[in-house]
Amino acid sequence: MAGMRIDLHTHSSVSDGTDSPTELVAAAAAAGLDVVALCDHDTFDGLEEAVAAGEQLGVQVLPGIEISAEHEGTSVHLLGYGCRVDDAALSAELARLRKGRSGRIPAMLENLALAGMPVPVGVLARHVGDSPSVGRPHLADAMIELGYVADRREAFDTWLADDKPIFVGRYATPLATALDLVRGAGGVVVIAHPWGRVSREQLPPGLLAEFAAAGRLDGLEVDHQDHDAATRAELRALVDRLGLLGTGSSDYHGAGKLDHDLGCNTTDPWVLAEVRNRIVGRGGRR
Ligand code: AMP
Ligand code: FE
Ligand code: FE
Ligand code: ZN
Repeated sequence: MAGMRIDLHTHSSVSDGTDSPTELVAAAAAAGLDVVALCDHDTFDGLEEAVAAGEQLGVQVLPGIEISAEHEGTSVHLLGYGCRVDDAALSAELARLRKGRSGRIPAMLENLALAGMPVPVGVLARHVGDSPSVGRPHLADAMIELGYVADRREAFDTWLADDKPIFVGRYATPLATALDLVRGAGGVVVIAHPWGRVSREQLPPGLLAEFAAAGRLDGLEVDHQDHDAATRAELRALVDRLGLLGTGSSDYHGAGKLDHDLGCNTTDPWVLAEVRNRIVGRGGRR
């Protein structure tokens, strides 16, 4: 359908967004979106509620996930669409990721206390809500409440980012393994914001070409706020050359991320149609 507005990457409070799945879908309807994919980090827990809300509100909800992977020590995020949520291998890996994320929080709390910014666990718990794993964005929200920083951006830029003093690393799935796990669960796999916080040297086009040639990768997120116009043009040329799907999305986190409003980037309807075809072909869940 012409004029369809499609946003294929959003987060709810089940991971590190601030809207519940229902609130997120309502916000998508208000933003004039026809289709929204919920891609919470390393969990499917919000999907059932989001799909039900979509049926109520007339928004198509594509079931998704964002997986924390790594390539040679660099963090790489994958978007998986249409995965069977009961796939044993993928579920086990997601549980391992969630455990790794939460497991290093005590060490970061210790670093914060040593830096003169104690965060009581009760304050942190309020911001975690019912998310199945505790991440840096929750720590950032607690720091805001305690008056240590003004917003998540300042929390990351000054303290929590990978090269900042409070940071403690965690387990992430090797990239090739993560690609294959999504496909094995019937899903379509797209690399999220490939050259956002990660350079072309860390995630080289040659590697992407290899995955594409081997049929292990479906697409790249081209239009994302972490990509400037030149990067988008380069990625657009790359997906065209490699025969990959190019997506566009907001990476909406509710009030948790500025300048990531729903629908600020969108995906072509033919790309969504192809994503759905592939999900069906692989026995996934569309
Ligand atoms: P964690 O999974 O605990 O390592 O936290 C990673 C999450 O923090 C990502 O999913 C992003 O949403 C968010 N994040 C990472 N880096 C930044 C940054 N520089 N500014 C704001 N949010 C960030
Ligand atoms: Fe996030
Ligand atoms: Fe991401
Ligand atoms: Zn995301």
